[in-house]
Amino acid sequence: MTDSRRGLLLINTGPGKGKTTAALGTALRAVGNGMRVLVLQFLKGSWHYGELDAVEPFGDNFVIRQMGRGFVKVGGAETDPEDIRMAHEAWEEARQAILSGEWDMVVLDEINYVISYGMLDPAQVVETLRNRPEMVHIILTGRNAHPSLVELADTVTEMRDVKHAYQKGILAQRGIEY
Ligand code: ATP
Ligand code: MG
Repeated sequence: MTDSRRGLLLINTGPGKGKTTAALGTALRAVGNGMRVLVLQFLKGSWHYGELDAVEPFGDNFVIRQMGRGFVKVGGAETDPEDIRMAHEAWEEARQAILSGEWDMVVLDEINYVISYGMLDPAQVVETLRNRPEMVHIILTGRNAHPSLVELADTVTEMRDVKHAYQKGILAQRGIEY
């Protein structure tokens, strides 16, 4: 056991709901401790999420940026080159933010999907995370976290799908899903 402060790598994965929202909860906790948090949302872009407006009063201390278009066609050869380009751009931004030392916590929301769709090389991500400034906390979200990232992580939580409103035909609800 050690009580020294250090940057952790957390992963929220699995098929159940709560991966992104748990990351946002942790981010809020960090901001409340005077830390600066950047959330980069891979893939997202077409929906307007409540959290985008909620963080505005925090200014530069809590920033959420959408880096995608909100939808992708899944599957190696069928993946739209534009989505791949946006994923790489998002990763480049993420890499620079992590290495800049300007942020105490960086959340890479839905990055696990980008990797599992074959749009981003997990080895690149592992290398950057290994070489990041010591105090930076990182949270990765999305289903199917890559084994190499799970291995590197300090805390990994798998959300289990017990039941979801969608399964009885209830569509996305304001304040719950967006
Ligand atoms: P949230 O953003 O609500 O924390 P999440 O990050 O765990 O969800 P994602 O895989 O990013 O889940 O998908 C986001 C959307 O898919 C949300 O609208 C969520 O309610 C919905 N969703 C998540 N899990 C399930 C599920 N098991 N069945 C149906 N819909 C789901
Ligand atoms: Mg999510």
